[in-house]
Amino acid sequence: MATDLRLPTDSIVRPDKDRFLQEENPFEAMMSRFDRAAELLDLEPGIYKVLRHPEKQIVVSIPVQLDNGDVEVFTGYRVLYNTSRGPAKGGIRFDTAVNLEEVKALAAWMTWKCAVVNVPFGGAKGGVVCDPFKLSVSELERLTRRYTAGIIATLGPDSDVPAPDVNTNERVMAWVMDTYSMHAGHTVTAVVTGKPVEMGGSLGRREATGRGCMLMTKDALNHLGMKTEGATAAVQGFGNVGSVAATLLALEGVTIVGIGDRSGAVVNRTGIDVAAAVEYVRKHRSLEGFDGGDRITNDELLLLDVDVLLPAAMENVITTKNAAKIRARIIVEGANGPTSAAADSILEDKGIFVVPDILANAGGVTVSYFEWVQDRAGYFWPEDVVNDRLREIMSKSFKDVLELAQQHKVNMRTAAYMLAISRVATVHRLRGIYA
Ligand code: NAD
Repeated sequence: MATDLRLPTDSIVRPDKDRFLQEENPFEAMMSRFDRAAELLDLEPGIYKVLRHPEKQIVVSIPVQLDNGDVEVFTGYRVLYNTSRGPAKGGIRFDTAVNLEEVKALAAWMTWKCAVVNVPFGGAKGGVVCDPFKLSVSELERLTRRYTAGIIATLGPDSDVPAPDVNTNERVMAWVMDTYSMHAGHTVTAVVTGKPVEMGGSLGRREATGRGCMLMTKDALNHLGMKTEGATAAVQGFGNVGSVAATLLALEGVTIVGIGDRSGAVVNRTGIDVAAAVEYVRKHRSLEGFDGGDRITNDELLLLDVDVLLPAAMENVITTKNAAKIRARIIVEGANGPTSAAADSILEDKGIFVVPDILANAGGVTVSYFEWVQDRAGYFWPEDVVNDRLREIMSKSFKDVLELAQQHKVNMRTAAYMLAISRVATVHRLRGIYA
């Protein structure tokens, strides 16, 4: 491995004792993992302090004229956590639950994720507090454009490059790109990734996160000496990540016995017809009413007796409340932060092999990196080239993290953080502190 993990030894890292009290605060959850890895790395105090603080936090008020003529004001955030390794990279989320702590955590996770797969980006995240399902398409467009205008000073192919996240998609990225380009006075495709292919998007980007999850599931099964063909899986979240992961896993011979979304979940021991479920959601926007199995709750879905559990919806679905009851042998974290920090040790005690979010769902940012490279070069790759290069990076990253886990006798999550933090810290050490 290229990165030297032997860091100076004058460490004073002391995690706050009360951190675990706030189990569901995503920033604290991220930080407690960060602290554990920093301690094992003997990270020097100065760099430890730098890496514990987001570089920049932006809060904007977004006035939007609604279709009925009323004006509503929404709140939007953009956090650039760390840009030492390259431009900030991270999605934009539209959701009622968005808050600054969550956006900070997601921005930090992006920093570590880009470093785990070794793509030359820093980490960022953005979000707007809104219910996109209650907005018309034109209201959503005005909201997106005004939010983009609000954060435009940080955006740019060399500084901050957004992508889709929960409840945003290619359509939203097209509006962000157009708004930025109108201000720049010329078309700037590389300012966002996850765009429509017709306007500079990459082939394979839409499927990339789910594809990465499929690849990580296969690597995990293989590592544990289990066969992909005939393995069973439950997938929570049936949006971009979950539906693609379920589709690709089914194509690899995995029996998908449970799927779920915000409307509830479905179980079918003989295997859910994933293609039919995808088609149903395309028509009805959710799994509500899908009759391809028996209805269960989302909580029950997580506790199914399966080989692989793939949470691909929201944060904090696996906590101290349910971790002890989880029966899966492997958890592949498609979502960001689905497991609370306090639940980690419960899963470890149960011998569950966890492929952590910053590795498991890094396929998306990897192909975002490919998209950014293609936009800047003005030269586009065929889909099989994208998928082959994605496989190469994901498998190498799995191997790097596994080797580190074995070397330090830690779990995959701690090893992934150690690898990421060591890479970011190395750059800070080389660059030094400006002024
Ligand atoms: P999405 O909006 O396309 O889908 C989200 C899915 O989760 C939907 O099916 C929704 O119904 C379901 N859901 C929402 N709340 C739920 C709840 N409380 N219980 C059960 N299901 C619920 O979003 P996505 O892009 O698929 O993202 C899902 C997760 O993956 C997020 O954590 C996101 O940050 C992460 N992620 C996404 C990407 C990407 O490229 N899209 C990349 C990396 C990580």
